[in-house]
Amino acid sequence: MAELRINSQAFFHNLKLLANHVGSKEKVAVVLKDNAYGHGLLEMALLCKEAGIASAFVKNEAEAIRIAPYFESVTALYGDVESKSPANVWVALHSLEQIRRIPKGRSVELKVDTGMNRNGIMEEELFVALEAIRAQGLILCGVMAHNGYGDELGSEFFSQQRRFEGVRARVEEYAREHGLPRPRFHALSSSGALRSRNIQDDLVRFGIAIYGYLCAHPLVVSEIGLRPVLSLWARRITTKSLPKGARIGYGGKSELEEEAKKVSTYDVGYGDGFYRLNEHHKLLTAQGERILPRVSMDCLSVVGEREEVCLMEDASELARLFDTIPYEVLTRFSPFLKRVVI
Ligand SMILES: *Cc1c(COP(=O)(O)O)cnc(C)c1O
Repeated sequence: MAELRINSQAFFHNLKLLANHVGSKEKVAVVLKDNAYGHGLLEMALLCKEAGIASAFVKNEAEAIRIAPYFESVTALYGDVESKSPANVWVALHSLEQIRRIPKGRSVELKVDTGMNRNGIMEEELFVALEAIRAQGLILCGVMAHNGYGDELGSEFFSQQRRFEGVRARVEEYAREHGLPRPRFHALSSSGALRSRNIQDDLVRFGIAIYGYLCAHPLVVSEIGLRPVLSLWARRITTKSLPKGARIGYGGKSELEEEAKKVSTYDVGYGDGFYRLNEHHKLLTAQGERILPRVSMDCLSVVGEREEVCLMEDASELARLFDTIPYEVLTRFSPFLKRVVI
């Protein structure tokens, strides 16, 4: 059966690099949303627990509940939470209406829009939001922003950071005045954190970097030696000897150029979240064998006869080929593919 292999040593190596960069392991929070960027939510949560990571961020309550036992807190970035969820499932608040929907006593993190113009409350709403949270009987555990310019050259990154500093000062003041515990503050994800020195935030929400990638402008963030964690392996279904000129697969788009060759099919296709390579793409397996377009839903053909082939060990290559980013390549992998931690 095809499988995704999770290289635990590469993962621990990445976590260590990131902890060194931010100064301590306590500042490293992991983003495990979208099935841990395709790596497998439960598998990655267990590795995080082994590494002693305390805080995680996921997409929604359903993901949070599955991994709540392994962390001190798991924040659902989107959606609401129900009163019966474990108490360490926190929820990010994006609007004043949402605050009024959250059951009393739940822990929350307030998201503030510092210039990405996407999610979170507006800075002008900060006081009203803090009052609403208190009136609703919610526990304010964190205040967060999302800096949308971590990958880019230019000054927007820094102006967003300054706006967040202003938000932090106002919330700290508010907490002091009302005798509330100081919430944690965090605004950075992978690239923003890696371009910053002396990070003032209480933690950094690391996503793509823990999986071994950085997608920032090379002048903004230099590579620090991260290692890709995931590789995709397919098993042989069948092998046949084909003559020169044989046409293979739907539409016969691959034509064998060489003299008689062994050609095998393997059990991965675009239904598994692999890309549908067609006659315009050229890709080799990690062992250097030619993948023959077109990729089908559940299988693909390769020149060769190995028992198993590695179709991907670095998502950057597929990302380039399909004009996208490693995030998309990774999150597409079907949750039905087996994840094997090695
Ligand atoms: C996805 C996400 C992150 C992680 O971003 P990376 O670029 O993968 O490090 C951090 N914060 C929020 C709010 C996110 O949605």
